[in-house]
Amino acid sequence: GKGLNVALSCLNYGRCTLSAGVLGAAKIAADQAIKWSRTRYQFKRPLSDFELVKLRIARMSALVYAMDSVLYMTTGLLDRHDPDIMLETALCKVFCSEMGWQVIDDAMQIMGGEGYMTENELERSFRDARIYRIVEGANEVMQSFVFGYGGKQLAERMLAVQEAVGWDREQPLGANLARIVRNGLRPSILRHALPLAMEVYLGKRPPMPEITRVHGSLADRARRFCALVREHSHQFKVQSKRYEEKILDRQAVQARFADNAMWLYAMACAMSRLDSQLRQGEDGAEFERDRQACLHFLDLAELAIRRNFAALSDNADESMLACAQAAIAHNDTLPNSLFYIPERSPVAAGTGRTPDR
Ligand SMILES: Cc1cc2nc3c(=O)[nH]c(=O)nc-3n(C[C@H](O)[C@H](O)[C@H](O)COP(=O)(O)OP(=O)(O)OC[C@H]3O[C@@H](n4cnc5c(N)ncnc54)[C@H](O)[C@@H]3O)c2cc1C
Repeated sequence: GKGLNVALSCLNYGRCTLSAGVLGAAKIAADQAIKWSRTRYQFKRPLSDFELVKLRIARMSALVYAMDSVLYMTTGLLDRHDPDIMLETALCKVFCSEMGWQVIDDAMQIMGGEGYMTENELERSFRDARIYRIVEGANEVMQSFVFGYGGKQLAERMLAVQEAVGWDREQPLGANLARIVRNGLRPSILRHALPLAMEVYLGKRPPMPEITRVHGSLADRARRFCALVREHSHQFKVQSKRYEEKILDRQAVQARFADNAMWLYAMACAMSRLDSQLRQGEDGAEFERDRQACLHFLDLAELAIRRNFAALSDNADESMLACAQAAIAHNDTLPNSLFYIPERSPVAAGTGRTPDR
């Protein structure tokens, strides 16, 4: 039947409407906070004069522009009835909920104590924005989904090559050699296996993708974007080879790829929107705000992606796992009766504190 399709398209709509909700709240919060920074004086200067306030104003502006671009592109795919946009809607949901939270947090910081008070709308937006990272698929679940579903095609291709010409520790020497020689001479296998081996063992990157139709002023940005896409694909292959099937249990590694896919998608959406604005000859204060927001976003995204590439080999994963293990072991020594315990816990239902309803 069509039940699964109906269920999956509901998720697509839900993830877009959630993103639209948080984008609206983030836009209002950013405008409110910037206005506040112009009219609130401290040390005889408006808050907007301070560089660390400018940093937040710029980040809010950049992230709002990028969220808007991502949502516009994703809902466009939805309206066009593209056959499979589960990945794009998941990326849109994670991006808008994470960035919306950041924008509203920046706005709260700029408004200071006044932002925290319940009488203005920001406090409500702040509280509401927190749930978007949990509902419609907790963002950690989305990260695993993006890694698994987004990397499926490439992983399957790598697996096919591995099965055809890779060394199988379970097989005797003769059987291994016979299979490798037999398959290694087949052009269809060779076509995939050779470039893959060059990449994984010799670090030789594939040719860079190209963006040929982009406004002249964005040509360098487009080239930098293409270099990041190529590196993303290269690192996926290298790390898949490094961890093999163990990567399925390494959510921290998966999240670095999922986050980079998210940043890359957002960069493409933001660049495409600015390209369109430039071609339409937009001008004025609103356009200049948008242009600078886009350029700043592209810088922020590129830096985040490079940090994730570096963290693939230089990270604190080992101490993180040991630290979590020790904290869990210590927590196991504390009595359940001091804490709230899930009502339907299969191991401890009924042993916890009673919530004060
Ligand atoms: C105000 C509100 C409105 C809601 N409205 C609806 C609604 O209209 N329709 C609906 O269907 N549901 C609704 N929900 C429920 C919502 O969908 C769930 O809260 C959400 O899916 C998360 O599930 P959970 O709360 O059971 O958290 P859990 O599944 O118990 O997860 C708790 C946390 O554990 C972590 N986690 C869980 N799984 C993994 C994993 N695989 N890998 C890594 N980390 C993980 C995440 O950090 C997650 O946030 C609503 C919830 C709230 C609070």
